[in-house]
Amino acid sequence: SKTQVGFIGLGNMGNPMAKNLIKHGYPVIATDIFPESCKELQELGAQILDTPADVADRADRIITMLPSSPNVIEVYTGANGILKKVKKGSLLIDSSTIDPSVSKEMATAAEKMGAVFMDAPVSGGVGAATSGKLTFMVGGAEEEFTAAQELLNCMGSNVVYCGQVGTGQAAKICNNMLLAIGMIGTAETMNLGIRLGLDPKLLAKILNMSSGRCWSSDTYNPVPGVMEGVPSANSYQGGFGTTLMAKDLGLAQNTATNTKTPVPLGSLAHQIYRTMCARGYAGKDFSSVFQFLREEDGQ
Ligand code: NAD
Repeated sequence: SKTQVGFIGLGNMGNPMAKNLIKHGYPVIATDIFPESCKELQELGAQILDTPADVADRADRIITMLPSSPNVIEVYTGANGILKKVKKGSLLIDSSTIDPSVSKEMATAAEKMGAVFMDAPVSGGVGAATSGKLTFMVGGAEEEFTAAQELLNCMGSNVVYCGQVGTGQAAKICNNMLLAIGMIGTAETMNLGIRLGLDPKLLAKILNMSSGRCWSSDTYNPVPGVMEGVPSANSYQGGFGTTLMAKDLGLAQNTATNTKTPVPLGSLAHQIYRTMCARGYAGKDFSSVFQFLREEDGQ
């Protein structure tokens, strides 16, 4: 039978990801600082422990899915962190979207304890996490990739090796910068079309058969009533939080600054999402930029 897998961070993404490991027959040992997050997994038979160190004491393969860099630093190197109890030869996979330099630091710290750390951030959102169709962008030692793939294939349909540790994060940060720019572009375009008297469903249909088509227009349309089963159909609840998008755009800005790379639209998108966080949109899905623009236009 399959040996147990540790899972730390059971939020919007971690919860359905861990469920898919269970579905594939892996016994899961999990923890989260928010006890409510652990309930569903516990009901499915997962064992819930108190701290990341406790998980590392029991499992030699661990996946982490946490909000941002400080949480990852805490979970790996904190007083009750994974590295306090990690077994030699353990495989540690971090699927959070964080600063690539933090991924490199965690890899160095893990190596000192005889363990292997890989970054494997994901694209696809809660829907893809639930259906096991995430895209994983993996960075780390190439000889460990096959071992990582075995677990990641249970949760994703695309598992792509990117290069040394941190390169998975680089790919993810680039994707999300383009996603943010595309979402804002889609929202302002849809709003303009509506103001010009077009039916939003018809406009979306035309965009999706024309050169303006993108993921934000055809899969995750931000205008309420255009699509079902997306956050815009549900008062922008669930999905990918505006706070998390602002965080990812901040990571893109840091890496662009470090490499002296001009990213003018990424920079503007960062400021728009930061402003939204300051104006009450922090807890909503990032497609709520459509609602934000509507409020701004004084109608
Ligand atoms: P979330 O906030 O819903 O979940 C994070 C979980 O981590 C929470 O349950 C929280 O209690 C737990 N946590 C925080 N600190 C902890 C600690 N010290 N110990 C144990 N548990 C701790 O976030 P999410 O939406 O699941 O996103 C997770 C990561 O995936 C983020 O980096 C995000 O950018 C990325 N991501 C999210 C989506 C999406 O659509 N939501 C898509 C792709 C990537």
